[in-house]
Amino acid sequence: MSDLIQVSEATSSPVMESVGFRRGLDRLLDSGVSVDVVTIDRATSIRKIMRESYPELRHQFDPWHGAKGVKKKATAAGRKKENKDLQPWIKSLGNHFWWSCSSCGGDEKELRRRWTSFLYHVCGIHRWEQDGQEYKCYHDDLTDDQQKGKKWLQNGCAACNALKAVVLDKNLLRDLRHLTLFKHTGALEVFHSSMLKYAEKRRHFTYVSMQARLQLSIMDHNHNVGRQHDLTKSGEDKYVFHSKQSNQWVVRKLYEPTSQDFRKDLVQQVILRRLDKNIRLGDQSFHIHHPVSIPVNIGPTPKPNKDDLTGAAALASSILRFCICGMMSSHSRQQ
Ligand SMILES: [Zn+2]
Repeated sequence: MSDLIQVSEATSSPVMESVGFRRGLDRLLDSGVSVDVVTIDRATSIRKIMRESYPELRHQFDPWHGAKGVKKKATAAGRKKENKDLQPWIKSLGNHFWWSCSSCGGDEKELRRRWTSFLYHVCGIHRWEQDGQEYKCYHDDLTDDQQKGKKWLQNGCAACNALKAVVLDKNLLRDLRHLTLFKHTGALEVFHSSMLKYAEKRRHFTYVSMQARLQLSIMDHNHNVGRQHDLTKSGEDKYVFHSKQSNQWVVRKLYEPTSQDFRKDLVQQVILRRLDKNIRLGDQSFHIHHPVSIPVNIGPTPKPNKDDLTGAAALASSILRFCICGMMSSHSRQQ
């Protein structure tokens, strides 16, 4: 199910997101789809809508955005000279956030404990007591060489305190309850990326064209969703290596190539419909339904009179010339 918002329906991009979110969710609910969990990023406007209008639905945040957020804060803190020892731990911090969300089993307390355990681990402490109970890290016991070979943070040092501020941030800890189910929006990001192939952002499309392009991108996505990992001739998984901006190489399994075969079926259906003598071009069923009224243009104010506009432009130009002449004469006087 998709919905396309006309830009004139909202005053800004964030408002358009709210309008689209509310309309899309209402359409799902009205059509009888049982919605249990809604997962998006931590956008404040959507949080408010979920809290006020859909309190019966569970609201989850994408952990990828959460991991990115903590890494960004830690990176900013690590740029300070006194916190430079924090830098080698930033990648681990993001991984630990992701792991904590994925392994907490839906339990908020467990997620909090796993997440905050990072503060012990970075100091080389792998067993500790908390609230009268003994806890330990989830990794295997380290050998003496591993323990000695790692550059642990000194408990209480500046970098450690900066890390503590990131990990124990009260807004982050409050939001952990929205991260317990580990519902990430990776598939949606893939869809958005594929959508740009049909509707690139730098070009303007009419509403009808945009709607058709959106529908095509959905057909493409549905045709390719659920692809398996690609295999070599000997039946082994294929891998791809790519470098990230952070100068780190990442390896991942390669999926089967995408296919756009659905277009052949589409063209075939168009031809069959064209050959069908019972369907004429003027049939109502041929027209695309517009859910909104389409304005003549998307400007927020009425189109100005051409003479007024050219007159105003000429006046502005003469004022500019006057100012430049004034500046030049003032400058020559100073010399
Ligand atoms: Zn540890």
